[in-house]
Amino acid sequence: MGDLWVKGSPRWLSLKTRIKRCPWCKEKVDEPQSSTCSHCDGELWRDDGQELRDIDLRYQEVEAGQQRRLKDVLIYGSVVVGAITLVLPLLHIGAALVTPLVVIAHMLLLKIYLIRRSQRLLGRTRRFFLRWISRFSFLWIGIPGYGLGSLPLVGVAIGVITFAGLTLLLNSYSLWSLHQEYIRAPLAKWEKLVLAILAVVTVLAIFVLICVTVLLGFSAAWLMDWVQNLS
Ligand SMILES: [Zn+2]
Repeated sequence: MGDLWVKGSPRWLSLKTRIKRCPWCKEKVDEPQSSTCSHCDGELWRDDGQELRDIDLRYQEVEAGQQRRLKDVLIYGSVVVGAITLVLPLLHIGAALVTPLVVIAHMLLLKIYLIRRSQRLLGRTRRFFLRWISRFSFLWIGIPGYGLGSLPLVGVAIGVITFAGLTLLLNSYSLWSLHQEYIRAPLAKWEKLVLAILAVVTVLAIFVLICVTVLLGFSAAWLMDWVQNLS
């Protein structure tokens, strides 16, 4: 009888139950329908009948930890970015090499130090949204912001504002996502809209960039021909 039930159950259910792990001890749950874990005796279900997840046990702790780390990131990061943008104008053409490095370092700092623990507790869809909204934010805010950071004097203010703004934006979005996941809310409409608009704008911008490059190449070739015909 048990075999028949397993064979007859939908594929997504068998896939889901196969990878189910106990939120308390992380061991694989052998019998998905049982009320407690066979390894540690921890409860596997909430009183309202919903499955108990990692996030149900760790939400408060992870949220508080991120708020604590945010202060350090903002204070020390702003000082470092201020110092870098102060010397950037002295590097002249070298600034073009340093700017992408600052963008990458900022991205890694947020990903590895600030939001990694929250990101891990999110479901697959929210993790995808957080990852892509972060990438697009760095593309559309980080690169121009740090690029203007190489201007003399005002560059320091623009660089620090870019650093603090991007950090606060992605901190807020990740903590908001964590809370939405915690209360089992579905993905918001504006999240889908924002990600779709950013994706379309990015694809269009890349397309325009390619067209401009090709046109410039053609114009250069045409100009060379014209100059040669003159002589
Ligand atoms: Zn367990």
